[in-house]
Amino acid sequence: MAKLHLANDLAEKTRVYAKSRAPPPRYSDVYPSGPLNKIAGVRLPNKPSSTLWDISIEDGRISAVDPHDFECSRRHPLPGVLDGSNRLLSPSLCHAHIHLDKCFLLQDPKFCDLQIEKGDFQEAMDMTSKAKARFEEDDLLRRGRQLIEESIHYGVTVMRAFVEVDGSVRFKCLDAGLKLKKEFEDRCEIQICAFAQLPLFSGHDGGEEVRRLMTEATHREGVDVVGSAPYVELDEVKMKMNVRWISMMALFNEKPLDLHLDYFLEENKQPLVWAALDIIKGRNWVEKGGKQITLGHCTRLTRFKEEDWQRLKQDIGNLPVAFVGLPTSDLFMMRTPESLRGTLPVVEMIEKYGFNAAIAVNNVGNAFTPQGTCDPLSIASLGVGLYQAGTKKVAEILYATVSSRAKTAINCESTSLALATGEPADFVLFDRMDTGWRCKKSIAEVVYDAGTARQTIRRGRVTAF
Ligand SMILES: [Zn+2]
Repeated sequence: MAKLHLANDLAEKTRVYAKSRAPPPRYSDVYPSGPLNKIAGVRLPNKPSSTLWDISIEDGRISAVDPHDFECSRRHPLPGVLDGSNRLLSPSLCHAHIHLDKCFLLQDPKFCDLQIEKGDFQEAMDMTSKAKARFEEDDLLRRGRQLIEESIHYGVTVMRAFVEVDGSVRFKCLDAGLKLKKEFEDRCEIQICAFAQLPLFSGHDGGEEVRRLMTEATHREGVDVVGSAPYVELDEVKMKMNVRWISMMALFNEKPLDLHLDYFLEENKQPLVWAALDIIKGRNWVEKGGKQITLGHCTRLTRFKEEDWQRLKQDIGNLPVAFVGLPTSDLFMMRTPESLRGTLPVVEMIEKYGFNAAIAVNNVGNAFTPQGTCDPLSIASLGVGLYQAGTKKVAEILYATVSSRAKTAINCESTSLALATGEPADFVLFDRMDTGWRCKKSIAEVVYDAGTARQTIRRGRVTAF
């Protein structure tokens, strides 16, 4: 009875809709499955919100940006043309730093006995190592697939995914990561970073097993990046040995390097960044064609004074270094006994000192970061309050830290807010077609409140509706 009532109601609504306006286009016309040659009638960043534009696409790249052709759209639907419906079109998003293998541990029924009791760093490490002992291919694929699907929905077209390699998980996380990379290759570029979260030189066997496994992992086909977390070593000597070893692996195997560095806040503990830069420069990194160096976390740098920032800029010199701040994790995990908190001042680093810097989600649904989603824009939005970044200009910088700057930080071609001819046709469209006056008209509005209705386009193909 209730069902029948609902059906009648729906039929009535459809009749009213049909009377009031032309029938809606067929689903297949609205969302072409093949490559697009045009996205018609969109708002663009950096252009007056009152004007509409058509973006032409050839071979997955922007071939032209023209004022919207209203005549042409009346002859709609044309094959290969996506109806922009006045929505804002912007460059796609990027996870510059995400842990693929540790995601959704708090939600997955397999790990439901592992819930947060204390909420501190040690508990997060212990819980994660307990979970890792139970990792199997099926849950790694299930959780990883969920993270990638949700990310694509939010507008992500490229990510750097960390998968851990050690004696406990051996190559389980790596194998699952490589499978997912292949599975999603048409919809999202997934850079796989073989990552030594555990010490390379401390521990019962002096890190020998981790080094052996990492060496093997580095040579595996499909591994794009190598990385480690020097802060987990027992003392400073071993931390430096960690940086020496992993930077040698990256340089000799021609892979980008990703270091999770200085993940603490205490002012009396010295940061490793100085020694790390010395070691890397000592390898004649630039002369030998060394790839991108990405430094994640780096919370200790929040204690830097003006002269430290100046020195950092100088020490980096022409090294291809980028920083990635991880505010949601830092806010939850990083606190001193006096309850001081800190996360990289990314906006200041970009504006004042000209560093390459981005922000990222880091963890989703685990004891390191229980709060938050797979949406990079939620981090940009948090940045408005965190960095007191409310102006239009700074909001655009924040957008770039999860879009073009994030892609640059992981050595990936990017699309700028200018949407210039020749740039990759990697986009996100905001809102539904019928959102009305609350639809986003500028990048600042998106950063303040991006909403969840989005459509993703990668190399001229729709990847999420
Ligand atoms: Zn991380």
